[in-house]
This record gives sequence, structure tokens and C-alpha cells, in this order.
Amino acid sequence: MLEIRDLSVSYGQHRALESAALHVSPGEIVVILGANGAGKSTLLKALCGISEGRVTGSALLDGEEILGARPDRIVEAGLSLVPEGRGIFGDLTVQENLTLGAYPTRARDDETGNLDRVLSLFPKLAERRRQTVRTMSGGEQQMVAIGRAMMSNPQVLALDEPSLGLSPLLCKDLFQSLLAVKAAGVGVLLVEQNAKQSLRIADRGYLLENGEIVNEDKADALARDPAVQRAYLGAG
Ligand code: ATP
Repeated sequence: MLEIRDLSVSYGQHRALESAALHVSPGEIVVILGANGAGKSTLLKALCGISEGRVTGSALLDGEEILGARPDRIVEAGLSLVPEGRGIFGDLTVQENLTLGAYPTRARDDETGNLDRVLSLFPKLAERRRQTVRTMSGGEQQMVAIGRAMMSNPQVLALDEPSLGLSPLLCKDLFQSLLAVKAAGVGVLLVEQNAKQSLRIADRGYLLENGEIVNEDKADALARDPAVQRAYLGAG
């Protein structure tokens, strides 16, 4: 269980996130929706220990405070990030990229077991395990990035706009793979601009506007909300 309370981030005088509160339970997909500049990446970076701003508040992962800890300690505690732009190594094979994700102690003890688990979660990666990542499609590369983050055996997987730059068909594949992560009992914290498809797979969602959470509800209720439809679902 991830419990974020009163999380604020400032860049100099600019307050980019104001007292955010949210939680993610095991096996739950939670989406954070917001326009460009709303503070979505700011929130994720603060959580994962890579913020360039001044961070205050609290983030408890199974009762352990992770806010302000070093990024590697946060991965050890059980929170793994798939960064925007994926951060994978194009010259390496799928399997080599996955193995690189097994560096935390929580994963190293059972590297083979983790690899088997991730490859069974993503059968498409198993078929391609010897392929050089650069030769794969954008959607397949995104799956490698998710697989690599899953190698650390996280309790919560955070993703920063994973659907960016993917075709609608590849987006569908991507969101299906997040359902597999959910089925494995892992909590998913998903930052997205693609409201339509992310609300379809999410359990709950939060709306972030100008650094503040302005609405929180079950995903189906958010999808029906007229304000959400106007702002994020292309309704007039
Ligand atoms: P996008 O979808 O465009 O990535 P976002 O919701 O992720 O948007 P953030 O990147 O979190 O938005 O940015 C929120 C605000 O904080 C913006 O006004 C942005 O200019 C500002 N900001 C982000 N990073 C920094 C930084 N390192 N220094 C100063 N200001 C920043």
C-alpha cells in the first residue's frame, strides 16, 4: 500500500504541486490525469527521489517513509519507475535489458525466478528475448521498459506517460500489459494524457490541475463526469 499525504513541490518560487494526497492499493490501477504542465511528472519524480524541486510531505510504502530517500533505496523499498522516454538500452537485447533491472537486493536473490516471472507476464518479450531492442517497435520497447521495472519485484509500479508516441493499437497492447501487472498483485500508479484508454483499465483516478488534485473518483465515474469529458475525452 502506497499512501501519499500533503505532498508539495516547489521550483524556486513556483509551487508546482500543492498538498497532494493519494493512495494505491495492491493490485489496483490508479491513473493521474492532467494537462501539460499540471504537475504530473513533478509528482512522480518527487515520489521516486529524483525531483529537482524542494519536496515536503510524506509517502509511506507499507508504512515505510520513502519521501526524501535515495532513488535506489526507494526501489529497494518496492517502488519502481518506468520513466518518460523509457530509459532502455537500444544496443542490448531484451533479456540483457531485463537483467539490468534486477540490480536491487530485493530482486538479486532470485534473478532467474524474476526473469521467468516477467517473461511469463509478457509472453511477447519471451518470444523476443534475444532481439536487439533498437530493432523493436515503440510499443514493444515500452513493454521492455515495463518488464525491466518489474524485474525489481516492486509492490508499486509507477509509469510516466507510457503511451506517449504510440499508435492507438500499440496503446491498447500497452494498457493490456498493465492489466497483467495488476493481476500479479502489483499496484500501478499511471500518469497519463490518454484519458480514454487509461480510464478503461484503471480502478480509480485523480485529476490534477495547476498542481492541485481537484477530483478523485472511481474510473467509470470519472469517465462519465461532464468536466472530465470536456477536458480529457474530447466531448464538446
Ligand atoms: P507534461 O505532461 O507536459 O510533462 P506535467 O503535468 O508532467 O506536464 P510537470 O513537468 O510536472 O508537468 O511541470 C509542472 C510545472 O512545474 C510546470 O509549470 C513546469 O514548467 C514546472 N517545472 C517542472 N520541472 C521544473 C524544473 N526542473 N524547474 C523549474 N520548473 C519546473
